[in-house]
Amino acid sequence: MFKFKVVAESTQTRARAGVIQTAHGPVETPVFMPVGTLGSVKSITPEELVACGAQIILGNTYHLYLRPGRDVISRFHGLHRFMNWHHPILTDSGGFQVFSLAKLARITPEGVAFQSHIDGSSHLLTPETSIEIQGWLDADIMMCLDQCTAYPASFEEARKADDITFEWARRCKGAWTSTGDEHQALFGIVQGGVHPELRRTSAQRLADLDFSGYALGGLSVGEPLDRMLDTAGAALPLLPREKPKYIMGVGRPEDLIDLVCLGADMFDCVLPTRNARNGQLFTARGTITITNAWYRQDPDPPDKACTCYTCRNYSLAYLRHLFLARELLAYRLNTIHNVHYFVHFVRQLREAIMADEFESFKKRFYENREI
Ligand SMILES: [Zn+2]
Repeated sequence: MFKFKVVAESTQTRARAGVIQTAHGPVETPVFMPVGTLGSVKSITPEELVACGAQIILGNTYHLYLRPGRDVISRFHGLHRFMNWHHPILTDSGGFQVFSLAKLARITPEGVAFQSHIDGSSHLLTPETSIEIQGWLDADIMMCLDQCTAYPASFEEARKADDITFEWARRCKGAWTSTGDEHQALFGIVQGGVHPELRRTSAQRLADLDFSGYALGGLSVGEPLDRMLDTAGAALPLLPREKPKYIMGVGRPEDLIDLVCLGADMFDCVLPTRNARNGQLFTARGTITITNAWYRQDPDPPDKACTCYTCRNYSLAYLRHLFLARELLAYRLNTIHNVHYFVHFVRQLREAIMADEFESFKKRFYENREI
């Protein structure tokens, strides 16, 4: 049921536009996926997400496995019905949170043993259980369990983590194949720190395992921008052209332009939602810090060209007031704008690829920056 088709390619860069078919409908790429960590994109409803143009969102396996857990979500036959989002969902494998959030994470021959950050209970996440959990979450796209390295990781550390990641990828593929259920896709994850040589090996051997799509993990973890782009540039061309390529956890609008140029199709990042709650609004002119006294009496919306609910109805002065008064509406209105901005920004990248005007789009993007 899962399919991907490239529908246009830039003649100036490696950028391409495509369409992914999933069990819950199509996704046009390049695409930005808002993050719904605990079964909600923080502070906004599924209807608001649709109005923002979101086509697919992320769910977090680690969090949803611990709370509310299998018995609750299975009663609703998966996450879509539970959270009232009837479009595609991608779930991560749980690995990133186990290593970053859980207590006492320890790699064992079976997988990774850890203690819940909520109540200290002991758990074991294996490639097989990760696939099983993503199965009952009913994700349209599942991710292989991987081990992400922190920055900086030495060549040896990154190689070791990628070897474990590759072994887990094989086991995830085995577990996925044995379910015989093709309505859920499975993506492999390229690791290897910021070492292009390791990334190339990782990409090549994962490609041989033949996944539905491929992701680059362990980027935007503190490395300089040029190293991130070198790393992504080393791996992306080695992944099959006819499969979607997803860069996990990146990034700023300018990073998305560079990564789309290198042939990336899918992105997720907490930046629009988290920064909205910190009073930062992304606009074509740059990033607005809503607490700035400059906006105290400003009757304009955050972005005059933006068609989101917030920009159609509210002024910077009002948004600043709400935020300073810690009114709950501030988080919702800011999130609506930021999610709309990211989703539409990546949609504009897609339109530029379709029209083969990627370079002029990029030039205009930088010319519009003021803040
Ligand atoms: Zn807006």
